[in-house]
Amino acid sequence: MSRGYERSWRIVPEAAVAGYVAADSERLTELLEREAARIQGEAPAQNIGREAPAQGVAESGRDAPPGLLSLPPPLPAGSDSVRIAFIGTNDFHGALEPTTPVWADGDTIGGAATMAAYVRPVEARYPGATIHLDGGDQMQGTVISNLSGGRASIDVMNALGVDAAAIGNHEFDWSIDTLEVRMAQAEYPFLSANIFVKGTGERPEWAVPYAWLERAGLRIAVIGATTTSTPYTTMPANVEPYEFRDIAQTVNALVPGLKAEGADLVVLVVHAGGIEEGHGGVRGEIADAARRITEPLDLIVSGHTHTRLQTVVNGIPIVQAASSGAAVAVAVLTYDRAARRTGG
Ligand SMILES: [Zn+2]
Repeated sequence: MSRGYERSWRIVPEAAVAGYVAADSERLTELLEREAARIQGEAPAQNIGREAPAQGVAESGRDAPPGLLSLPPPLPAGSDSVRIAFIGTNDFHGALEPTTPVWADGDTIGGAATMAAYVRPVEARYPGATIHLDGGDQMQGTVISNLSGGRASIDVMNALGVDAAAIGNHEFDWSIDTLEVRMAQAEYPFLSANIFVKGTGERPEWAVPYAWLERAGLRIAVIGATTTSTPYTTMPANVEPYEFRDIAQTVNALVPGLKAEGADLVVLVVHAGGIEEGHGGVRGEIADAARRITEPLDLIVSGHTHTRLQTVVNGIPIVQAASSGAAVAVAVLTYDRAARRTGG
């Protein structure tokens, strides 16, 4: 199957900064680019921000961010093709209030209200045809979230209307028991297909490998996955019974079955990331995995490296939207019902 895509995805920082940092996005864009340049030569930043006083609350009903308007419009009902807008967030890290990560140079960025101010206009632009996927590490990182064992962050994700989330390495920080309580609280599934009980072919009971969503008459399979670095990027004792297997092999093994079950689109929400290099290349765990994916995969919503990604590797679009609610990614896939494939 050929994979032709409209390059119709975008990281949308404009609205996020309106109430907090500056009147437009230039300041945030400059900060994010400077941070991206810094980490090109280093290990990915894992800065999860400090508490900062709230500077205000984003107004609801604000105009659609300008970046959104350059995304393709929804198609009229009855068209041969349909457009599904995937909203990607990741590495919220408990940022209920705006935070001041070191790279923000003293400015406050992100937060729950800011993220909502991004998400709602996308939902309004593609009514009934949005899917909100979160790339994981939702809970760990601020006093307000940590003191509630992540409960406050899951309340936010529920209110935002997240449809599915990847299990991030920091989801294990407070033990499997706490994670299971958070999973029960969440109104959406936590997904990971590459976690197995050591030495067996069995997934732990709490590790749901994929979920089915339906939008605009399409059946969409969402596979989850988790960074293979998890055994040393959370409390090791908490994940000692488990192994985190190769992401590409996991995806390749699942896709044919999902297609046979009638998936029109298959997407991956994964807590593993990468870094765009200046010359158009991408490196990192998710780029390596994408290069080895041989089955049809329509989109990757990534996380973990806190980077902005809007790129294509091996024909697969990959997005990631910084961290802490500072940005969201929007990827609009156009699906041709007659040809039964994405294209553009
Ligand atoms: Zn992470």
